[in-house]
Order: sequence, then C-alpha cells, then structure tokens
Amino acid sequence: MSEIRTDPYLARFASRTREMSASEIRALFAVASRPEVVSLAGGMPFVGALDHDVVAEVTRAVVAEEGETALQYGGGQGYAPLREQLAAVMATEGVTAHADDLVVTTGGQQALDLVGKLFLDPGDVVLAEGPSYVGALGAFQAYEADVDHVPMDNDGLIPAVLEERLAALRHEGRTVKFLYTVPNHQNPAGVSLSTSRREAIADICAREDVLIVEDNPYGLLDFKGELRPSLRTLAPDRVIYVGTLSKIFAAGLRVGWVAADGPVRDKLVLLKEGADLCQSNLTQLIAERWFRTQPWQDQVAAFRDVYRERCDAMLTELGHEMPPEATWSVPGGGFFVWLRLPQGLDSRELLAKALHARVAYVPGAAFFADGTGGQHLRLSFCYPTPDRIREGVRRFGEVLREEIELVTAMYGEAR
Ligand code: PMP
Repeated sequence: MSEIRTDPYLARFASRTREMSASEIRALFAVASRPEVVSLAGGMPFVGALDHDVVAEVTRAVVAEEGETALQYGGGQGYAPLREQLAAVMATEGVTAHADDLVVTTGGQQALDLVGKLFLDPGDVVLAEGPSYVGALGAFQAYEADVDHVPMDNDGLIPAVLEERLAALRHEGRTVKFLYTVPNHQNPAGVSLSTSRREAIADICAREDVLIVEDNPYGLLDFKGELRPSLRTLAPDRVIYVGTLSKIFAAGLRVGWVAADGPVRDKLVLLKEGADLCQSNLTQLIAERWFRTQPWQDQVAAFRDVYRERCDAMLTELGHEMPPEATWSVPGGGFFVWLRLPQGLDSRELLAKALHARVAYVPGAAFFADGTGGQHLRLSFCYPTPDRIREGVRRFGEVLREEIELVTAMYGEAR
C-alpha cells in the first residue's frame, strides 16, 4: 500500500519555487477591490483617461486592414514597426535606442523576469533600492538571487552607500550581477534620482564593473514634464533598459520592452521564444497604430494632468490628517506616496484596522526582501478620484489617531 501523503506536490516543487508566496499586494486585492473600500493600495493606471472609442477604432482598423499579420504568430524580437515606435517614445525622453536593440515583452514585468532568467544563478546578488518594486523582487527571487538593498533619500539611491555595499560584497566574495533601479518617480518611494547621482552611479558601476537594470515606467509622467538623463544614455554599454506602455497607453495590452546591446538582446530573444514564442501580434499592431496615428503625446499629457490633480489631493489631505510625527514623500510624478508612520507603529499590524475602516494601502515590508519596512507604507493616488482619495486619507487619519490614543493609553497604564 502506498504511503498516504498530505501534499503530493510540495516535495516535488523545484527548490527555486518553494519560497514563493503571494505578494502582499495580491492578497490585498480581494478586500481592497470591494466597492466600499477606498483602495490606496493597487497601482492601476487610470485607463478612463483614454478615449475608448478611439482605441476601439484603432483596434477595428488593425483587424480590418492588417488582419493577416495581426492574427498570426510574429517573431520573437517583436514587430519591427512597433519597435520603431518604441524607439521614438524613448527618444522623447532623450534616450537613444535603435529599433534593432529592442525586444518586445509582455509588459515590463516579463522583461524583468527574462533579465533575471538571463543573468541570475542561485546565490547571486542583485542590488536594489530599499524600498524596491515588489514585482521585480519577486522576479529576481524566483531565480534564487539574494536582493540586497541600498537605502534612498529624497534624491533617490545614495551613491556612497552603493559604493560601500559593493566593497563589502566584494570582500565577502559575493557576485553582484546587477543593480536594479527605478530612477524616475520610483515605485514605491515616489522619489527620483537626481542628475548628479545618476552620473555618480554610472561612474561607480563602471569602476566596479556592475551592470545596471534601469526600469522606467514613469519617466514621462513627470508632473512638470521635466526629464532627467537616463542611465542608459550615461552608460550605454552597461545598462539594460526596461520600458512599458502600461502607464502611457494601456496596461491591458501588456506591451513592454527591453533595450540592450547585441549579445544581451540575442539571448533575450531566445528566452522570449522559450517563454511564449512571441508577443501577441494583435496587441503589438494596436500599439503600433496608436503611436503612429494618434496624438499620443497629448494623451500622455492628459494622464499627467489626472495624476497631478490626484497627487495634489492626496498631499493636501495628508497635511490635514496625519499626526505631526508622520512624514511622507512629495512625488514630482508617477503614482505613489511613501509614508513613514510615527515611531512604534507597524503598517502591517495597522492594516486590519484600516480595512475595517474601509481604506487600503500596502504595508512597507512588501517592498523589502529582508523583512524591514514595517514603519512605512505605500499610498497610491493613480486610480481613485480626488474625492475618494480625500475620503480614504480621512479614514486612514482616523485609524491613526485612534491607534496613537490606544498606544498612549497603554503606555500610561504600563507605567
Ligand atoms: N516596473 C515598475 C517599477 C512598475 O511599477 C511596474 C508596474 N507596477 C512594472 C515594472 C510592470 O508593469 P507592466 O508589466 O504593466 O509593464
């Protein structure tokens, strides 16, 4: 008689998948998406700012006029005319790229996964900002890399600490495969890397011979329309650049890309073919036609206006509602505010109370590979209307006031 097993799969899972678990954000989605909850948790772009009739017309024209291509398999590198458009999008940000150096991916997320698959062996180190984008942490950890954080301040990643960490890791004999950074309007910290720091980081990585993965979903969503030099421009031979149309067009199309030099590009094409043969031609052709025929820069400006208004609503309400000891970042673009709670409060512990009060956020620990970040949390302003944002911040303010009263009373009793 065979042995009774409680879980016939567990022991058979590949070792690299054993530690995988749903991100805090995923677990939150079920509750946060209830209509009575104001969700300041997810990072959903506001696709309501798009004219859906125009998207429908573009889609219709693609199928009617180019159906033979749109409904067929394509090449692993991606649809060449789209790559031309993507190179033009990069050029508006001042990043020079040739369409031949681009590989189209299923969103920026697949790009991060493929980059991880290409470079990471178990035990390799990835340096990343602390805090860092949760989807990137998950992708790199799935290849059993150790993510080591470099702290940030209001000007982004701190170069002096990067240098120290690199020296320490070298001393320990560890292999640092790359630095992962979101230099513009970072998710979740809402800050951007200053120009002088970009130069410093490019210099340090050149000196230490470390590659850089530059992830740039939010560069065009600067509220003042300002641009900073991309790392790929400063150090073209060591930067692998990841872009996406999710925030400047439509996340549902799942179009992202990597810009990288020949040898990296060639391997990425092979990996892409292994993952899904090729990107959807239908969505690539829709995106290509959109960028070729529509005033897409006006659309980006419209997104920017929506997000600026929502960000202002959040910042003003935080000013009214937060206790004096709380601090938060003041984003110049993007989707997120990073908030530091008063000493002694933990964002994960507070979450149940916040949900009870019908407001959701993401606890800070989700954005660190090392379990730190408990005093922080991420608030997103991209999706709810300004009124809902104000309501959400008011609800959260109420939760915080009650919690502070409770903690004060407990300390009082303890004494
Ligand atoms: N990188 C960062 C920093 C992000 O915030 C996101 C989306 N939340 C992505 C990559 C991936 O986005 P997508 O796959 O939709 O392009």
